[in-house]
Amino acid sequence: MSASDLFLGSEAGDAAYREAMARAIDAVVETVADRDEPYTGHSPQALAEQFGAPVVPEDGVGPDAAIDEVAETVLARSVATSNSRCSAHLQCPPMVPGLAAEAMLTAANQSLDSFDQAPAATVLEQRVVDALCDLFDLPNGADGVFTSGGTQSNFQALLLARDRYCHRAFGRDVQADGLPTEADSLRIVCSETAHFTGKQAAHHLGLGEDAVVTVPTDEERRMDVDALDRTLADLTDRGRRPFALVGTAGTTDFGAVDPLADLADRATEHDLWFHVDAAYGGALALTDDHAGMLSGIERADSLAVDFHKLFYQPISCGAFLVRDGEDFRWMARNAAYLNPETHDEGGVPNLVAKSVQTTRRFDALKPYVAFRAVGRERFGALVESTLELADDAAALLDDAEDFELLSDPTLSTVVFRYRPRDGMTDEAVSRLNADLRRRLLADGRAVVARTDVDGVTSLKVTLLNPTATLDDVAAMLDVLRDCGRGTLTEQGASA
Ligand SMILES: *Cc1c(COP(=O)(O)O)cnc(C)c1O
Repeated sequence: MSASDLFLGSEAGDAAYREAMARAIDAVVETVADRDEPYTGHSPQALAEQFGAPVVPEDGVGPDAAIDEVAETVLARSVATSNSRCSAHLQCPPMVPGLAAEAMLTAANQSLDSFDQAPAATVLEQRVVDALCDLFDLPNGADGVFTSGGTQSNFQALLLARDRYCHRAFGRDVQADGLPTEADSLRIVCSETAHFTGKQAAHHLGLGEDAVVTVPTDEERRMDVDALDRTLADLTDRGRRPFALVGTAGTTDFGAVDPLADLADRATEHDLWFHVDAAYGGALALTDDHAGMLSGIERADSLAVDFHKLFYQPISCGAFLVRDGEDFRWMARNAAYLNPETHDEGGVPNLVAKSVQTTRRFDALKPYVAFRAVGRERFGALVESTLELADDAAALLDDAEDFELLSDPTLSTVVFRYRPRDGMTDEAVSRLNADLRRRLLADGRAVVARTDVDGVTSLKVTLLNPTATLDDVAAMLDVLRDCGRGTLTEQGASA
């Protein structure tokens, strides 16, 4: 049986590739790219019912039918991330140059774990990493690696921080010998609004979530530096060993940026590894007017930046950067069969030594193609326009009688509540907003997130679409009002 129609490299295979890609592209454009409504509101049960066909049939249906099925059952019922009223999470509309890059990198199928599996890709990833180190003003000797995203970047940061500390403080080689007996006293310090992946990493690193000590935030929801000083003093008094300080540049709900320069001072003073989680806010570095908000990031020992958020690249795509590339030695290992030439004269780059993955995607191609195609100035302007839209959206909410704006946006999230009547209790507002959001999920005309602020259920939009306008936001608010009135009627009926 010939397989040539299934693989590239023959006339039949190349033609099949062209045809399948064209069909897939048409399917995307017709079902998910310019859909009128961002969401279809199907329940998990309704979605499950359409997948009755066997996943592994005895005889295949052929690529055309398989693609068409997916268009109908999956794409047409997916969240339309490019729709201007899709703004719940940090899930961006993917930029066209990035989509082209994604198509190229998957077809080329290079694997970054060894030079012989990805020669040009290895060199290019390194070049993109170097450019990112420059973008964040890290010094010579800085290095980095592409990751699946902030989760992996934050994990790698805390891994290097832990192992460097254990080596310095106890002469312990954690990679070979595991955690020292003093591990119980190790502490990671971050703000109370830092991303949950810090705690997750503490668990994965054998320190336990309780190793994460959170510092209160100020009225702008940034880490309170006086409180940080008290926390560090208290930890030292109690014989705990803080080894890492995590600052956030762009918290998930409010987009708050911690006072990074003050944190860098504290990290120096207390000899802490200073990691900056810039998964969301890192894109500010591209802008003319907002790059200053990241001031202090250039003093980080490491930083996490995600391209699949405010850099508009397809999932997944993140980078982990380290001030001193030598620190990768805490995780390096030598698999003799990969990159055997590394240590020879004129050796080859050995990226696998910097990653927690082995086989690894060439995700660096996406920001590369996007940067090359768009340029820093225009790219930065896209980010700025998104931030401006958030400010305008906040003003709209602030002026509205029936909405309560919870704070002025820092980046592109806007957090608010539907509060149509004066004198409503927090309990009533919580119930109303929770029910409203449930109703909205089934409605599908807008996609908005739900979050908790000071114990009260709230709503959040995360604006990431540079093509969205204030009219889109206004339309979204009208949908919320509509769902809100429906919810009130329903609650009235059941009360
Ligand atoms: C999104 C995010 C993460 C998690 O990153 P993933 O890319 O989802 O793995 C961590 N920290 C912050 C601040 C984030 O916004």
